[in-house]
Amino acid sequence: MKDLHFRDRAKAEELARVIARLAPSEPVKLVHVCGTHEVTITEFGLRSLLPPQVEILEGPGCPVCVTPVRHIDEAVALAEQGHIVATFGDMARVPGTHKSLEGARGAGADVRIVYSVADAVELARKTTKEVIFFAVGFETTAPTVAAAMLDTPPANFSLLVSHKLIPPAMAALLQGEHDISGFLAPGHVSTIIGTKPYEPFPRDYGMPVVIGGFEPLDILYSIALLLRQLREGEPKVENAYTRAVRPEGNPRAQAILSEVFEPTDHYWRGMGLIPGSGLKLREEFRDWDARAKFDLSLESESDEALHPGCRCAQVITAKATPDQCPLFLKVCNPRTPYGPCMVGEEGMCHIWARYGGRPKL
Ligand code: SF4
Repeated sequence: MKDLHFRDRAKAEELARVIARLAPSEPVKLVHVCGTHEVTITEFGLRSLLPPQVEILEGPGCPVCVTPVRHIDEAVALAEQGHIVATFGDMARVPGTHKSLEGARGAGADVRIVYSVADAVELARKTTKEVIFFAVGFETTAPTVAAAMLDTPPANFSLLVSHKLIPPAMAALLQGEHDISGFLAPGHVSTIIGTKPYEPFPRDYGMPVVIGGFEPLDILYSIALLLRQLREGEPKVENAYTRAVRPEGNPRAQAILSEVFEPTDHYWRGMGLIPGSGLKLREEFRDWDARAKFDLSLESESDEALHPGCRCAQVITAKATPDQCPLFLKVCNPRTPYGPCMVGEEGMCHIWARYGGRPKL
């Protein structure tokens, strides 16, 4: 059951007044990097409680949206080679260069929708066919996949790894010219990584960071803290989600992650190549690495391709909102998505479409 204590209307209105008092007169753009934050902000109409000069946008917080075309093409190629490819439901619908996994399934390939890596391992135990789990997600999902690898999965199981790391993507948003004033850091990811990985943001970029929870009051409180930091001119990392996030994060999950994976450079759709922003299996787990096990030499046309007219690259980098895309809720909607931000359930276009499609409800 949701905690109604964090949805108290009077307290929300009080926080809105605090935010109005703290807001500077010039425009402020705050960026979160988490689909769950966007769901709360949109579902509860929190943007309508903010003064007009305070904007909050979603950055690259939807793992499905940022998965590069090349990785989808690899998953499609594996399915077309006759193997079973297991993945999450929305991942199957994201377009690759020529088709999505769902398209491959329509043409006869064996693509299974699973809810966890454990389902995919179980599937491998029940078949003699090769089962490849398309492993997407951020620091929150990757530890469960790492734990499955430490349990020695069957020899006919392997991983197509596309896990990504949030702090390098946040840093990528700050390269070159930008108008970001502060980050609402993701609560779930922070339960794993703790507060330390955010320290470079105030130190090297003068950028306030507040780790926030997922209830409406969590988010309003975090926005108030970000505005207070801006007002005082003292950027720092603040943890406003202390009921779930410890400064050290989850050391056990971190240990499992680094035992199985190591950082690598990754493409992010709409953002290009970001150094150290992805994970790959360590050499000891090579036997379960689909890229080592199967022939995956393919020619993707681009690592970050989007359909012409799709503004996902701007949405993912907090430069546009869905309603600024001319295709939003016209040719592009959840039933016939045109771009990955409308496919991924954590994508800003999909979330806005689910809740009516208006910027301020
Ligand atoms: S509305 Fe559709 S086409 Fe426009 S940015 Fe979003 S996903 Fe792309």
